[in-house]
Amino acid sequence: MKEEFLARMEAMLQDEYPLFLAMLDQPRFRGVRFNSLKIGKERFQQLFPCELKPTPFCPNAFYLDHDVKQIGNHPLHMSGAMYMQEPSASSAVEILDVKEGDWVLDLCAAPGGKSTQIAEKLAHQGLLIANEIDAQRAQVLMSNLERMGFGEVIVTQAQPKVLCKMCRGWFDKALVDAPCSGEGMMKKHDEAAFGWSVENIRACAKRQLEILMDAADALKDQGFLVYSTCTYAEEENEAVVSQLLAKRNDLILVDCGVNFGRYGFPYDDLESDKVRRIFPMDQGEGHFIAKFQKTAATPTARIIEKSSHPLAKGYREQLEAILTMPEGHYEILHDKIYFRTTPFLDLKNIRVLRQGILCGTIQKQRLEPHHHLFMSSYLYPCFHRICEVTDDEWRHYQAGEELAIGAYFGYTAIAWNSLIVGFAKGNNKVLKNKYPKGLRRKY
Ligand code: SAM
Repeated sequence: MKEEFLARMEAMLQDEYPLFLAMLDQPRFRGVRFNSLKIGKERFQQLFPCELKPTPFCPNAFYLDHDVKQIGNHPLHMSGAMYMQEPSASSAVEILDVKEGDWVLDLCAAPGGKSTQIAEKLAHQGLLIANEIDAQRAQVLMSNLERMGFGEVIVTQAQPKVLCKMCRGWFDKALVDAPCSGEGMMKKHDEAAFGWSVENIRACAKRQLEILMDAADALKDQGFLVYSTCTYAEEENEAVVSQLLAKRNDLILVDCGVNFGRYGFPYDDLESDKVRRIFPMDQGEGHFIAKFQKTAATPTARIIEKSSHPLAKGYREQLEAILTMPEGHYEILHDKIYFRTTPFLDLKNIRVLRQGILCGTIQKQRLEPHHHLFMSSYLYPCFHRICEVTDDEWRHYQAGEELAIGAYFGYTAIAWNSLIVGFAKGNNKVLKNKYPKGLRRKY
């Protein structure tokens, strides 16, 4: 670990520095957050394979013991009932205070820790645009949102500037969980620690300010913007907040309204007691959070709803053979059918990876259902056939094997402890495995 980084931390933390140094040698804090749209808190704790201790940062989050392994393959994870997230990372969305029905923009969203937390709070109402600039990371974001069963989400892959121009003035809330130098993610012997430099900190700060300026444009009058990083550097935290306030007289800094973590550091005339810092001494790896409110309107870009067409009878019948589809909107894009409870939006030249629930793919007039359809917590009560499997049957299903279970004909949801993990096709004798190949794991 670079001496210069340690010297800066010593100057920053003073008396607390020895404790910080000792914590750099400790294993990382790990955490899980349950998805309340799929499971209740008590049931989650009952089904989780070990004891869970609550975190101060989010009521749905727990610390995960260092020795718990392979939790990513557990049916609680594969059913979308939980997300693994470093505990202090859940703080920013709590501060954003998302309400059902809000329109929310998550501008730097992959892999999706915060987007999945926002979508859960929206509870199938309102809208989340989850954007990620990097193509590969955007795919991971999409698969996490799919696994956790969210539908009122649009996943985009765009430059913040282009996206925010297209949706100027649309959002009640926006989150910039910015790309940063990641000091809070470094442990003493990590490779990342050796790549640390002041030049990189400066480059990150410049980029952060640009992204925040774009995000502010996308907000409605009175809308809220939360800025977060997982780094300790003042240049990327208090200094960026101060520069943003100097550049935008339509933004005010507001109190984060929480009592976890600690105040920010004094910086020029910044009201540092309004921003929040979390250090390992506060029981998380490290986060910085600031909250702004917009106090004036930006000219709003027009919201264009796509016109809605009823789904062709043949496709509707094929879907209705699987579940009773609730009222809503359908779109056929290329060979895929999507469903949303509210009208589809036309995002013009923005690259949209997913809008709504992907119901299935059309192959020669036949609808091949998609994993997303079955993972949707909104559609959970609508399925005609749900086959409950044992732990052992789940392992065989996860490995991609056929299940010797009769009494099911047609596409059938597969559930473990009432949590849908995927689907299969029954012929009254066996259930043919339809678990996505990329998710299969040998036991
Ligand atoms: N919010 C995410 C979560 O909770 O899972 C983590 C986001 S991560 C800290 C920052 C993201 O910003 C990365 O996925 C990165 O690809 C993206 N990014 C990098 N450069 C960017 C830029 N110039 N504009 C917007 N996003 C960028």
